[in-house]
Amino acid sequence: MPKPSSATINVPLPATNALKHAERPNVIVPAKIEWQTDDAGNKVPVSGEFGDVYFSHADGLAESRHVFLAHNQLPERLANLVPQQCFTIAELGFGTGLNFLATWQLWRQLRLTHSHLDSAHLHFITTEKYPIPLTDLKQILALWAQRAPELAELIEQLLASYPPLIAGCHRLNFFADNITLDIWLGDAGDSLASLGFETAIQRPYIDAWFLDGFAPSCNEILWAASIFMQIQRLSRADTTAATYSCAGIVKRGLQAHGFAIKKVKGFGRKREMLTAVMTEPLPLDDHPTLYTHPNHTVVIGAGVAGLLTAWTLANRGINVTILDKSAPLSGASGNPRALLAPNMTPIHHVYEHLHSIGYLYSGRLYRDFNKQAAIQRTPLILEQTGTLDLLVKTNIGTEQIADYPNAMAATITTEEARRLSGLKAKDLADNLYLPQSGLVNPQALKTVTLAHSNINYQQFSVTDIKETEDKVTVSGNNSQSPITIIADNVVICAAYESHQLDKRIVACRTIRGQLSWFTPTAEQITKLPKLPLKYSGYCAPFIGQSGDAELNNIIENQSQFLLGASFVDGDANIDIRLEENQQNYDKLIEDMPELADVLITDPSLWQARAGIRTQTLDYHPLVGLLAQSKRLWTLSAMGAKGYALAPICAEALADMMLGCFTPLSSVMLTRLSPNRARLHKARNNVSKLSS
Ligand code: SAM
Repeated sequence: MPKPSSATINVPLPATNALKHAERPNVIVPAKIEWQTDDAGNKVPVSGEFGDVYFSHADGLAESRHVFLAHNQLPERLANLVPQQCFTIAELGFGTGLNFLATWQLWRQLRLTHSHLDSAHLHFITTEKYPIPLTDLKQILALWAQRAPELAELIEQLLASYPPLIAGCHRLNFFADNITLDIWLGDAGDSLASLGFETAIQRPYIDAWFLDGFAPSCNEILWAASIFMQIQRLSRADTTAATYSCAGIVKRGLQAHGFAIKKVKGFGRKREMLTAVMTEPLPLDDHPTLYTHPNHTVVIGAGVAGLLTAWTLANRGINVTILDKSAPLSGASGNPRALLAPNMTPIHHVYEHLHSIGYLYSGRLYRDFNKQAAIQRTPLILEQTGTLDLLVKTNIGTEQIADYPNAMAATITTEEARRLSGLKAKDLADNLYLPQSGLVNPQALKTVTLAHSNINYQQFSVTDIKETEDKVTVSGNNSQSPITIIADNVVICAAYESHQLDKRIVACRTIRGQLSWFTPTAEQITKLPKLPLKYSGYCAPFIGQSGDAELNNIIENQSQFLLGASFVDGDANIDIRLEENQQNYDKLIEDMPELADVLITDPSLWQARAGIRTQTLDYHPLVGLLAQSKRLWTLSAMGAKGYALAPICAEALADMMLGCFTPLSSVMLTRLSPNRARLHKARNNVSKLSS
């Protein structure tokens, strides 16, 4: 039985700051919604920016089905997908999400009647420059839930996952239906330019376009030649497009960029609309070809990177064998709890800030896992406690925090900060409150990921990996005997030992970190902080759950207080050191001297665990296919941020392996490539110096 998690702490958040909504580069301006009445007397939303309707005044849902679904031939094309195939739709203008909801509902219906679609995947990529605020969207979609009850459940799920309105890609996975929604917030031109990658085996493309910008007469930008150039770049022969508009600029744009167009009957009273088929795609490079879906992948290393990689691939229908020379989470990922709280960046950088992108995605994924855990009555994966950052060691101050949507980050009043932290003397006027942050339970994550029916874990020490044209052979030993495993792909997730398995992976910095914890007395519990705090270190209270004892000496139902963590560069020892417990104590007392009276326990009596974090010289992880390889991948070097970064990086890696668009921009993928020149140049310089 899981212990009930400490309930999310309700904190009154400050009122929205008007300055947030001024237009600045890479900063999202929410839509201003106005209301009109349609032909049937229903209230319909209208864009305050453009003065145009989001959907038809006749019947928006029926129009969406007619224009975008029927005229991209989706009912037939989706029904004819082969098992494991991914079909990708891209939309210009997410608006109210009605097109997406109509598509999702069609996909659901088809999957009910076509069992071969069980393992097929629908990927819906959409762009939006002026996203509708959640409160308006709730109002708009509540009307659709009444008018079209078949959408009601989907609407509920979409609203529950709707992202905070910050620039960049927000990946929403609806796992039960094998459908992924990527919402790229920002200008469509920039978002389309961010899409795509090329590896030695793959280059993704769009199967069907929903061109749903406002009418060209009020928003020419969305129909500009630069947009059509991107559409052509991302299409290939037989890609289709549909739009309600028959304006000259649309016809000319499509024709000039490789599409053959056809006018057909429009919806309702509209005379005509356009459908189009790509007949003159840009010449494709030689190497990216259709790649058969891999059946079996070996993941080496069962830390957080390996577990998330294995689960993500398994979830895409691949059989995964995950190997570890010791045991799952035996390394740095096996701490009693991991604090999921981002190091924030000024908002105009957030769209390319991997830690923020990863934080938002992992929170969504872990909350999804929580639902599974609740059904199975196992401990929660993420205990969403909220975190209070005292801004001792951050890149941003309160003015920059005010730029963020309050649902993601806010500065709370001193009074609230005192109530939450229990601190009485500390000046808390400047603070950062992260309502969605919390503590990850690594053991619970391990249980939920390894429970996937496509995953098989083996204790196995790898000694050799050989890649040939059609397979990879992994050799090594388990506790009894030598073993060989054959796979289509191998992903190396072996942290600081990854380079020992393949020389193309750079050796990384090893940074030792020791975490300390103790069992507080009943009196201490009343005086210690009640939620995680970040300062020059971090601390958090938690309660031992069933399973914790598998990784650490923690008793179920017992209160614990955790303090982190030391940083010792260039040290790969994991012995427990009393002086590092003392350092963890000192950091806490230096930043909050008043806790000296509460923490009277002698730090040398505390429990502790040391792990080795792996970091590259440019601080970015390694994610991707190895140079000159078609089958060997790595996902590694997450530093101390594995629980925030691994889920989104695993999504990107699975997409690259399967030829789907990633939730990370092409620029970001280049930054993460294990073959990036700057790491290898630095390595060569070091070896020249030492020779
Ligand atoms: N597909 C939507 C639906 O299902 O509700 C309706 C889309 S509405 C007709 C057009 C959308 O395009 C609006 O939400 C608008 O904010 C968005 N838009 C306008 N200019 C844009 C741009 N440059 N980049 C991205 N989105 C843009």
